[in-house]
Amino acid sequence: WEQELVLLAHLPAVTRDGVRMALRSNIDLPGESDNARIQGAEGVGLYRTEFLVVGRATAPNEEEQFRAYKRVTESFPGQPVVIRTFDLGGDKFPAFLHIGREENPFLGWRAIRVCLDEPAIFRTQLRALIRAMPFGDLRIMLPLVNEISEVTRTRALIGEAIEELRAEGQPVPDAYKLGAMVETPAAALIAPELARHVDFFSIGTNDLVQYTLAVDRGNSRLASRYNPFHPAVVRLLAAICKAGNEAGIEVSVCGEVAATPLGAFLLIGMRASSLSVGPPALAEIKKVIRSVTYDDAAAGVAEALAAHSPEEVVSVLTARLSRVL
Ligand code: PEP
Ligand code: MG
Repeated sequence: WEQELVLLAHLPAVTRDGVRMALRSNIDLPGESDNARIQGAEGVGLYRTEFLVVGRATAPNEEEQFRAYKRVTESFPGQPVVIRTFDLGGDKFPAFLHIGREENPFLGWRAIRVCLDEPAIFRTQLRALIRAMPFGDLRIMLPLVNEISEVTRTRALIGEAIEELRAEGQPVPDAYKLGAMVETPAAALIAPELARHVDFFSIGTNDLVQYTLAVDRGNSRLASRYNPFHPAVVRLLAAICKAGNEAGIEVSVCGEVAATPLGAFLLIGMRASSLSVGPPALAEIKKVIRSVTYDDAAAGVAEALAAHSPEEVVSVLTARLSRVL
């Protein structure tokens, strides 16, 4: 198996019937990107930048952020590096942000809401991201998008930052890619319209499951109820993939479901174009992709969409996957 892992790293993520998937890596720290590349990742599907700031008394300045973003971007020459703007709040509280006690932090002041309400922090991050763009294929991704206006307001801020940097004589890109995480039922339900305002979707199943099922993702007492194969979640995932595909934008999945064989199989069948998983899961998920056919996965999706319980979803998918794995 060890040898197989090494071999797999160099093989393409393509199904037996020829559907090419992009298999990318989730990373939390810039230093993880080299290992991800060695393990065969074709870029970064999610860099969680909030790990640059948690536990710190002061926000990292533009220069420090620029160096981190440039480093990750340069470790994947010619491949996409998707960098998510600070996903603060919820379970991640830096000391310099005075969020205060909230009754329901996951329903509170978090992610893109904090970014847009704290323009000084957001502008600094956007400037650092734009400055790193000339070093590769860096794409910006927004967490917890719920409304189109959050995207359009960010585009305006990016436009201003580009003009500012140009005036300062810094190299700036002619065009850039901006994507939205789809991780709330609201975003999933407006996906057809949202798709017209972004360059890509990335489905955050960790949050999508918790918000759809009203089950706290961190509450161990509810662990058995936190089920990504609940028919409601399956239907939302299918709707998001359909909306993204119909709009002709890339649909990536960066939540943990993509890192499980059954979840990857389901998402292949929904025609997700890219999966992003933690480095330890890269080889296993590549093996799943290379073992299945899109046709079989799509047939599994049709059965899963007709299923009446999480158990039934799991059982129809397992029946198909176990025949080839
Ligand atoms: C998600 O919600 O699925 C996700 C990838 O983001 P995070 O786990 O950082 O909330
Ligand atoms: Mg999330």
